[in-house]
Amino acid sequence: MMDKPRYRRVLLKISGEALMGSRDYGLDAATVDRVAADVRSVHAMGIEVCLVIGGGNIFRGLSGASQGMERATADHMGMLATVINSLAVQNALEKAGVPVRVQSAIPMSSVCEPYIRRRAVRHMEKGRVVIFGAGTGNPFFTTDTAAALRASEMQVDALLKGTKVDGVYDADPVKVPDAKRYDRLSYMDVLSHDLAVMDHAAISLARENGIPILVFSIAQPGTFAEVVQGHGRFTIVT
Ligand code: UDP
Repeated sequence: MMDKPRYRRVLLKISGEALMGSRDYGLDAATVDRVAADVRSVHAMGIEVCLVIGGGNIFRGLSGASQGMERATADHMGMLATVINSLAVQNALEKAGVPVRVQSAIPMSSVCEPYIRRRAVRHMEKGRVVIFGAGTGNPFFTTDTAAALRASEMQVDALLKGTKVDGVYDADPVKVPDAKRYDRLSYMDVLSHDLAVMDHAAISLARENGIPILVFSIAQPGTFAEVVQGHGRFTIVT
């Protein structure tokens, strides 16, 4: 029998790279379908789900700026990349039978809905997944900050950050094999030790609004569903 879910509404943040599979760039269709299947299984538990997806698999503002582009323009390109990823995941969820809407912080009305907070809430109440594209809509921000912002606006019970590894470590566990893994951290631990969870703006916003952050591996199929039920491996930041 399925355990009773711990949360009523959650926001899942994944980076663009989580959609790349084993490719070096862009989207891997099988990986997008797999992530959609993970979202579908949480949605099927009756939990309201919204998503923020990064754009790093296509374009990052900082890398454009490092090649001489104006930072704000490069960031606009990065935000457009997140809309491409959002449309791909929308497509995969729809194919899997999950009702879904993309809302973009940069209005592009022939492609998706504009971000309207109350409408997003209504979609979720009606059982639709909502994907927030174009980050915050502002250059000089990240999709981590966008995730904490939308999580606050949507009054979610938890912000789940799906990463490549199964929690927060004191060093990159891929490079440092004996890196220490944490089960539980405070927002202040993360800020003062500069742990690689989310950027400081995102952590501060989550802290101010009392939203727990759960870091887990999105690379492991099924983990999203386990984590919302309090099982599996994750680090919780409160
Ligand atoms: N971005 C932005 N404002 C935002 C969110 C994102 O300008 O509110 C741009 C920024 O250039 C960033 C890019 O979009 O590099 C892609 O987002 P991010 O790097 O956060 O994606 P991820 O690393 O999670 O794939």
